[in-house]
This record gives sequence, structure tokens and C-alpha cells, in this order.
Amino acid sequence: MKKTVALLMAIILVALSASALAAAAWTCSQCGYAYNTGSQCVSCGAYKNGSTSFPGVTVTTNKKLATRTGPGTQYDGAGSFGSAGMSVTVYSIWYDAGNVAWAEVLIGNRRVYTGVSRLNNDKNRLNSVPVCYSQYRSARVTSGSTVFYGPGYSYALQDLSVTSGNYVSIVSTENDWAQVEWGNHRGWVPLSCLSY
Ligand SMILES: [Zn+2]
Repeated sequence: MKKTVALLMAIILVALSASALAAAAWTCSQCGYAYNTGSQCVSCGAYKNGSTSFPGVTVTTNKKLATRTGPGTQYDGAGSFGSAGMSVTVYSIWYDAGNVAWAEVLIGNRRVYTGVSRLNNDKNRLNSVPVCYSQYRSARVTSGSTVFYGPGYSYALQDLSVTSGNYVSIVSTENDWAQVEWGNHRGWVPLSCLSY
């Protein structure tokens, strides 16, 4: 009788550990690869939530955040926000010409840039943030648009617009939106406004 109980216990333990292992794997909604265990699909690079863009990580700040619209002090100022201990979502990290690291962060309904030194690397979360390099791709503005603080109409408007016939550089894209820059300006416009 004791032996039977012990055997049953062993079977239950094996079954439990097998189901725990099975639960760790996730199936990619983009390509169907079923054996992913990390945050990104090993087959196509999509993230666990199905997005093809980095979903962001949340970290705390160690001081008030002075921000710019782009990753460098040459870009337009975008305001100072919050104080030490605030939580912000980080989408990307960029290095400026002086090798200073800047983080693209979400504050309210604005995506802006701040020095990485103002952020705490809570639980090493910043280590997983993609480092971006501008892929300067020239584009012609085919219909004028106001410029937004992020890739969507729900983001705040910058006090800027792009004018039909002018040229801008696309530095990144996300879904149907392009992050563009010209002169010291950087912001987001619908991709449909551009020819490239
Ligand atoms: Zn995939």
C-alpha cells in the first residue's frame, strides 16, 4: 500500500513538472512557431504579445526627466517631467555623436528622449531594450500633416507640421507610422503622408 502511494506521488510530481515545462513555451501569433521560451520568437523576431515592435519595459527614474524630441541636445526641447521614482516605459536606446546613451520613453501621451543616466536599470530591464541606429531613408512629403509625439493619433501634437513637397528622413517605422526628422526636429507622421 505504501509503495502504491509513493508511486502515485512520483507520477503526479513528474506530470506536474512536465506541465510546468509545457506552459513555459509559447506559440508565435505571427509565424506559428510553437516552441518559444524567450521574449521574442526565435523564428521571426515577433514579441510574445504578437507585436513586431519592441513592447517596451518599465523602469523608474532617478531624477526629474529633462527631455528632447530626439536623441541629442541638438533636438527641440520637449519639456521636463515628474521627479525621481516615477515609472516610465522605455522603447529604444540611441547613442548620440558623443556616445551618450538616450532612451525613447513614454510619458503621458508623449514619446520623448532623455539621457539613460536619468533612469534606473531596475532588474536589468534596460539590457533587453533594442539599441537603434537611424536608418536615414529619404522620403518626400506627399500630403502635409501635423506632427505627433508618437505613432498614433492618440499621442499629443507637436507644434510642428510637415509640408507637401518637402523632404524628411525616416528614422524608424511602427505599424502605419513613421518617425521622421528634418533639421533639429523629430516626430511621427502617418506613413501615408510620405513617398519613399
Ligand atoms: Zn514568429
